[in-house]
Amino acid sequence: MVYLDYSATTPVSQHVLEMDSLFHQRCFANPNSIHKLGRLALEETKQTTKKIKDILKVPNHQVVYTSGATESNNLAIKGLCFKNRNLGNHIITTPFEHGSITATLNYLTQVGFEVDVVGLDPDGLVDLEDLEALMTDQTILVTIGLVNSELGIVQDIEAIRRVIDQHPQVIFHSDMTQAIGKVKAKYHLADMISMSAHKIYGFKGVGALFIREGLELKPMIHGGKSLSYLRAGTPATGLIHSLGIALCDAYEAFDKNLLRVQALNSALVKRLKSLNDVVINSNQYSLPHIVNLSFLRGLGVDVQKYLSDHDIYVSTTSACSSGVSLSRVVMALTHDKKRATSSLRISLSHLTTLAEIDALIQSLEDYCESC
Ligand code: PMP
Repeated sequence: MVYLDYSATTPVSQHVLEMDSLFHQRCFANPNSIHKLGRLALEETKQTTKKIKDILKVPNHQVVYTSGATESNNLAIKGLCFKNRNLGNHIITTPFEHGSITATLNYLTQVGFEVDVVGLDPDGLVDLEDLEALMTDQTILVTIGLVNSELGIVQDIEAIRRVIDQHPQVIFHSDMTQAIGKVKAKYHLADMISMSAHKIYGFKGVGALFIREGLELKPMIHGGKSLSYLRAGTPATGLIHSLGIALCDAYEAFDKNLLRVQALNSALVKRLKSLNDVVINSNQYSLPHIVNLSFLRGLGVDVQKYLSDHDIYVSTTSACSSGVSLSRVVMALTHDKKRATSSLRISLSHLTTLAEIDALIQSLEDYCESC
């Protein structure tokens, strides 16, 4: 099989698996227990937290471990909005956000919040003048992902922060699920940061929300005392530990892996450009890990199915109610329905080989001949 869907999820690395097994042999106690064994488990978790904060250079953020980025996004957005409701009811976002952001914002509009979507420039970067123009004295939150999951476009977090800095009551949340481990940026510029372990060769079911010290949210899960007042329940010590290992590994091999993925990206793009009816939607601001293209011969879902039937796994977008897939993200960038209904996301890893890229290209050529 040829797996080219690493932005959807990654396989758990051998190192994470091995370290996880060792962890469970030595540390199973409940870190909320006050006996010695419990204290040891708490200490392990605190060390992991320190390591994670050091790696990501977020010394002034507290870490809340969650079940993944969906929960982190929910906690960040709902937690902040419900806490700061007395300050305003206006939120700003982009057309590029993940479903866990848009669905949360849709929910908030049903309970009295107002959401504006900032415009993008032709390259898919946030239009900073529009961002400034949308700010009102009611704005309490701006939520902008650092890297979009379909096109891989990396936003200019420093420029966005400069606009937000002019509005002290506004909190900046950034979904960095597709960024962490793949792009080095000043993560700390966001007041709240969401991430997930399964995008970086860790386990599914664990993620984190980083929250600037002093910033208060309304908890979403109530219950007994735990690592944070924001999330009750026995901490998933093993998963937290494995998140730390995955993150450590990602940054230790960062430069080497990036070089490899850049080379694979160049090879892939070159080969794709030699095919008829292919337009590349990713651009110079995209991570090398994501190549989004439109194969204008048919619907993205049909090509995806054909590839899947040949054991080649890539992504498209979810089907809308009419049964026709349309990427709202590609649509927001290109304003072209044909491109938005025929898009495919190929996502690469340092584990990807040139032979896998060859197999993909060969299959796309075969698809052309068969249609
Ligand atoms: N945000 C982004 C940008 C993502 O790509 C994903 C995963 N597809 C999520 C959030 C949700 O992450 P999780 O699967 O950990 O809930």
